[in-house]
Amino acid sequence: MPNSNAKLPKLFSPKAIVAAVVAAMSACVLGLLVWKATEAYTAALAQGERDIRNLTHSLAEHGSHSIQAIDVAMGAMVDLLKYQKPRADRFNAALRKTADALPQIGEIGVIDPDGNRVYSSAPDLPSHNNADRGYFISHRDSTDPSLHISEPLQSRLTGRPSIVLSRRVTREDGSFGGILFATIESRYFDNFYHAFNLGPHAGITLLRRDGVVLAHWPDGKWSGEISAAFKARIDQEAAGYTKTKSPFDGRIKYLGFERASQYPIVVTVALPEDQVLAAWHQDLRNDVFVALILMASVVGFAVLLSKEFGRRTQVAHMLRDREARYRLLADNIADIVLRYGRNGKISYVSQSVEPLLGLKAADLIGKPCFDFIHPEDIPAAAKANAELTDRTMTRTVIFRTRHADGSLAWIESNFKLADDDGEVVAVLRDVTQRHQMEDELNALNERLAELATTDGLTGLANRRTFDAALPREYRDRQQISVIMADIDHFKGFNDSRGHQAGDECLKRVARVIGEATENTPALAARYGGEEFAIILPDVSEQDALKVAEAIRLTVRTLAIPNPASHRGIVSISLGIASRTAETIDEAKLLRTADLALYEAKRAGRNCSVVASALDDHSAGRKQYA
Ligand code: GH3
Ligand code: MG
Ligand code: MG
Repeated sequence: MPNSNAKLPKLFSPKAIVAAVVAAMSACVLGLLVWKATEAYTAALAQGERDIRNLTHSLAEHGSHSIQAIDVAMGAMVDLLKYQKPRADRFNAALRKTADALPQIGEIGVIDPDGNRVYSSAPDLPSHNNADRGYFISHRDSTDPSLHISEPLQSRLTGRPSIVLSRRVTREDGSFGGILFATIESRYFDNFYHAFNLGPHAGITLLRRDGVVLAHWPDGKWSGEISAAFKARIDQEAAGYTKTKSPFDGRIKYLGFERASQYPIVVTVALPEDQVLAAWHQDLRNDVFVALILMASVVGFAVLLSKEFGRRTQVAHMLRDREARYRLLADNIADIVLRYGRNGKISYVSQSVEPLLGLKAADLIGKPCFDFIHPEDIPAAAKANAELTDRTMTRTVIFRTRHADGSLAWIESNFKLADDDGEVVAVLRDVTQRHQMEDELNALNERLAELATTDGLTGLANRRTFDAALPREYRDRQQISVIMADIDHFKGFNDSRGHQAGDECLKRVARVIGEATENTPALAARYGGEEFAIILPDVSEQDALKVAEAIRLTVRTLAIPNPASHRGIVSISLGIASRTAETIDEAKLLRTADLALYEAKRAGRNCSVVASALDDHSAGRKQYA
């Protein structure tokens, strides 16, 4: 049993449970954090892609519209120039009007087949020759009427980077009639893109479809190369989205691109990865912070819980130890410890009930405790039990019960309330032996008392009893008589028949005296040797004489042989005295009775003499033979 129990607490100890709960909650919090972060990461990337694609589309549209507006204006002018050579002032005015209407235009003008300006929106007709420009050469050498978009150039008019949109002017006869061109300064796109405020490392690029960078925000002066792979991609796909390393600043970026629908231009919008994920990063930091607080709370709570569990375990151990000690004590003391509820049913009884009463502790559980008390003792036990009203009170009751072997046992029970629910704890002690000893002692005391007051040989009261009773009786009675009696020739009896026969004789005479005073208030005593004395309360001298005579005659009828007596049998002489005015105290009364006895001896023995007859010394003696 101790082994199986010892394992359980280790496996499922409160601390292990708390640790498991903390681990589980931590796993939940971490799992939740990871799950939420993953979801948010995916959502952030998706949102970033949506934003970039939308922006790319808008900027592609913008680029397209910016060019289209110029292209439309140039279309009508090319047609005009095909057939006519308009007046310079009027055409220049028209060009200025167009340039004013379209803010993207830096200068719009016409260059003749030799490369010189013939018309221009500029206030003064620029004088430099542009025959060396790529776009000029391209138109001169190709009859393609479509719009040409140049690579970025440094304007010879303003000195600022610009791109040139141009169309070939073909004369009616099909010959090269120069070109119509419009410049768009790079800063037009710069300013426009700047307005989006995309952040420090974002990038917007306007490309020609062949990969030539027309404008790049924020650093327009970039002069690198677009990778061949990307060139191929924008050539094949109308729009796309990718994660790439920026060729402009080397950062990892998410890049959207879209081709303009009508012109060979492509717009790319690139946002650095950390910018796309900035909100996600912030959310993640917040979530981690909340998770940490949550974890700290869980750990704190666990520590408190663990401490509380520890404290409870300690208390439980303490209680278990106390209980064990209590049981050890209860089961090993000689007394029986018993608990019972208010219903009288036994809930616990110590093992000592077996050696003491021969009963098994387990058999007694649930039985009414009064079942074991002798029926005559139940009322006293029930009364004492009912008197227990608070826990400070104790009651002691002695009752009888039956040992399992059928013998009667005396039990002393001390009991008191064990708790507020009315449960009672009783300590039962076997006092049978003590009880028996008490009985023996009482008998002994009674015997001792008897011995102290009676004469051992005759069973009559002894001299001490007589001496104690006489003054008391004399004080309390107005009428009282005393008889003194003495066996005649008893010395001779002893001498002739032996001491043992003398004792026997004494007993028989004493029995006669005892029977003569039996059932009366008289006290008959052996006064000493073969002398007897009788106190007769409320008895007159005459009545006392009758008692004396009855004794004397009965002794004679016993006819105990006495060779020392001339009569041949045992006889007795008696002197009687009653309280009179002369008998001033009990001693005088006794002396008077003794005098009467003496007189009876003197008169020849075997007679009774009353003291009142002694007064005249010789005359009036009363004597009975
Ligand atoms: P009297 O007729 O004058 O009384 O003569 P007595 O012999 O009886 O008188 P005495 O006083 O000389 O003798 C008393 C005797 O009683 C002496 C003693 O041997 C005897 N005696 C006293 N006590 C006991 C006793 O307890 N047992 C026996 N067997 N004899 C006793
Ligand atoms: Mg004598
Ligand atoms: Mg005598």
